[in-house]
Amino acid sequence: MDICEKLSILADAAKYDASCASSGSGPRGKGSFGHNVPAGVCHSWTADGRCVSLLKVLYSNACRYDCAYCVNRASSDIRRAAFTPDELVDLTAAFYRRNYIEGLFLSSGVFSDPDIVMEKLIATAKKLRREAGYGGYIHMKIIPGAGERYIREAGLWADRLSANIELPTAKSLNALAPQKSGESILGAMRDFSETSCRFAEDRRRIKSTPVFAPAGQSTQLIVGASEEDDRQIINLSGALYRKFSLRRVYYSAFIPPVQVTDPRLPGITRPPLAREHRLYQADWLLRFYNFTPEEILDGQDAYLDAQLDPKTAWALRHIARFPVDLARAGYEEILRVPGIGSRSALRIVETRRSRSLSFEALRRLGVVVKRARYFITLGGAFIDRPDNPGRIRRMLAPADALQLPLFEV
Ligand code: SF4
Repeated sequence: MDICEKLSILADAAKYDASCASSGSGPRGKGSFGHNVPAGVCHSWTADGRCVSLLKVLYSNACRYDCAYCVNRASSDIRRAAFTPDELVDLTAAFYRRNYIEGLFLSSGVFSDPDIVMEKLIATAKKLRREAGYGGYIHMKIIPGAGERYIREAGLWADRLSANIELPTAKSLNALAPQKSGESILGAMRDFSETSCRFAEDRRRIKSTPVFAPAGQSTQLIVGASEEDDRQIINLSGALYRKFSLRRVYYSAFIPPVQVTDPRLPGITRPPLAREHRLYQADWLLRFYNFTPEEILDGQDAYLDAQLDPKTAWALRHIARFPVDLARAGYEEILRVPGIGSRSALRIVETRRSRSLSFEALRRLGVVVKRARYFITLGGAFIDRPDNPGRIRRMLAPADALQLPLFEV
């Protein structure tokens, strides 16, 4: 099989993994080619919202496991292929030099013992760095079950590592991916977290200590392949951020694999992309707006509001906390106002130190006034009174309603 055929098979096999953004890593220094911009610019998105600017491939799509939701599962009747480390190094370096890609996202099916699979991935990354002089971004998958020393080694060559949790509960994992264990996936995250802390500690004392996976770790959760609701998913994400200092949880709407039929899977024909979108918005609240998982869904519903973004939905459930007076309120309070992002909240606090704020100025500071207008005052003056949550919902929902099905059966 020639390299183009392999690439076609193994790039196609990798497309279901959503966790491929390259934010949070810096340049690798002199003597290497390739450069990461540390602000998450290595993104280009397909129509269904997935990142394609990395060379995103599997090392091999052969797999011993038989996860029901996966096109690469052992029982799937598909063409199988595998790269060698040299082939992948040549391919990545050539694509990078031609500006086709900005980094490498490298995963693999579990074609052998997890330690052996990790050895192959590590060998590829090491060759890229050492022999090809590649300084671009590398995101490498951790194969759960691999020993701690492989995670340690992988972090010396890759910018980011990720172990995919895939399903939100052990029960779903048992049902849909019985050969995987929640404990080994969480164990890999724990190993990463502890190793990362040790390296950071050593670097504080010994400057020559190498950098360990500077872009941290992430994970992916499949949404809609199992029965868990949004509350369970958000609670899990909150716990993962807290316990393992994850940089990102990626949510991937379950795409029913065409080659696979399995009675354990839900009978959907289209991925629940709107639900995925709402979960990303909720995740944003966890990471940048100081919301706790419990606050995001603190009403009766176990699912996020289909009509409104989670921050606006929260504000309407807590309308007594509004209006927030932007002339006086603290940063944290301003941050809770729908239509005001973290940067705008900072700008408001900074601007009002030197001059008084006007409603006209808010737009220039980045405030989405058409949303914020129901929740703010300036020195006691309203744009629109937040007297009736039902009315506000009617005013805001049409603009925000997603056209995609949240749940499709
Ligand atoms: S371990 Fe499961 S999800 Fe990963 S490639 Fe194999 S079958 Fe697919």
